[in-house]
Amino acid sequence: MSPAIKLLIIDDNEEILISLNRYLSIKQYDVVSVNNGLDALKLLEVSADSFDLVITDLVMPNISGVAITAIIKKQYPKIPVIAITGYGEQPEALAREVHADVVMDKPFKLNILGDNILKLLNIR
Ligand SMILES: [Mg+2]
Repeated sequence: MSPAIKLLIIDDNEEILISLNRYLSIKQYDVVSVNNGLDALKLLEVSADSFDLVITDLVMPNISGVAITAIIKKQYPKIPVIAITGYGEQPEALAREVHADVVMDKPFKLNILGDNILKLLNIR
């Protein structure tokens, strides 16, 4: 896969961040991971064009994944967003309201995440 496809992963749970980073790096993606929304927004502000897709947790302190999704869809509408949540239906509904492209409930199988990424990037 070249040039490398660049993914931004946002989750306040370090274990999830590490596991997603490991899986997606093995899949040859260029992965940038941050554990909070503020750092994510700063990265997007300076280099939104360099990211091909964002994966964000929904429930996080300070800036939620719902807010991040809303901001991305408004300011960087070409970047697909996969929202992941472990907290039941309300954040999931909110994520759909702000037009996350895919919403996944935790726990999910990593290969399903992999498939969703390929679909959103139109890769076979
Ligand atoms: Mg969380």
